[in-house]
Amino acid sequence: MIELDGAQGEGGGQILRSALTLSMITGQPFRMTNIRAKRAKPGLMRQHLAAVQASARICGAQLTGAEAGSQQLSFVPGTIKGGDYSFAIGTAGSCTLVLQTLLPALLYADVASTVHISGGTHNSMAPPLHFLQRAYGRVLEQMGAKVEITLKRFGFYPAGGGEIVASVEPCMQLKPFELMTRGERRNGFAESFIAGVPANVAVRELSVIGSGMGWEESQLLHRSLPAEQGPGNALLLTLEHEHVTEVFVGFGEKAVRAETVAKQLLQEVRDYLISGAAVGEHLADQLMLPMALAGGGKFTTNKLSSHALTNAEVIGRFLPVTFQLERGEQISTCTLLTGVTAAR
Ligand code: ATP
Repeated sequence: MIELDGAQGEGGGQILRSALTLSMITGQPFRMTNIRAKRAKPGLMRQHLAAVQASARICGAQLTGAEAGSQQLSFVPGTIKGGDYSFAIGTAGSCTLVLQTLLPALLYADVASTVHISGGTHNSMAPPLHFLQRAYGRVLEQMGAKVEITLKRFGFYPAGGGEIVASVEPCMQLKPFELMTRGERRNGFAESFIAGVPANVAVRELSVIGSGMGWEESQLLHRSLPAEQGPGNALLLTLEHEHVTEVFVGFGEKAVRAETVAKQLLQEVRDYLISGAAVGEHLADQLMLPMALAGGGKFTTNKLSSHALTNAEVIGRFLPVTFQLERGEQISTCTLLTGVTAAR
């Protein structure tokens, strides 16, 4: 039984999600205490509980402590089974984080799977669905995985009600990847998705992005959604480079000016572009788990977050790997070293 302290490092939900995924894949049971100890409301929230229950369902795990608010959990996995699954988070909790927990495990299933998840599709502090499709999904595809992720309906905080569907084919051995440079720019565009919010908000956001990036009208896409999918507004900026795609997001909020949302987003994009790194902060922490499963890989990033450092520790508890993290002023490098058992 692997003992994990949920208060370690970042102390949030990602420690739990990585543990669930790796427990399913490696067959090693774990017990976690202090779940999400460093969050204002510690313990299992709906999104985390949904990830635990969904993981238990796909591998027939035995659970103790799987209740709302619980700060302790034990998870004893069985065998991963592919098939058709449907999970409802029941709030605007992030569908993408639940999917990201299941997806790597379903690569190791006996047969193909289809997973429907309802909840939030575009939440702050989580990958927006388009990020999973374009950024994370593209790397998985390069690693040999056959995964298709479809957005059926948007779900914004606090109403939720979004729906996503993922189809995943078994892929027992992912290929290592190297993302040291991003390569030439192939495409760049911004989209303002807007539901039940005045259209003017999207126009103002896109105008700031247009002048900040020096982009033409054709790169600024106003995406009106049916009002019943809102209220909500997500401003997405996608950069497709030769080797990697990145997606940056900002969310419209009642008390925040549209121009401010767009300017903050531009700043994040500029930091990434100026650095010359291949991968942004979020893709960096999310690629570490697939990279460890592949048994090799290397990337550069403009920001090694505490999420990344914590993820490296959790992954090293389940797999005989360690990450060499070299911090530079503008670019950091993450290299997977295999055959090394991290200190327990
Ligand atoms: P909590 O920390 O409250 O438990 P949580 O369960 O949502 O929250 P975190 O541990 O904070 O989880 O992990 C959030 C994950 O979402 C990280 O992998 C992070 O990289 C990712 N993420 C956050 N914001 C973005 C973004 N804008 N684009 C892509 N991914 C994001």
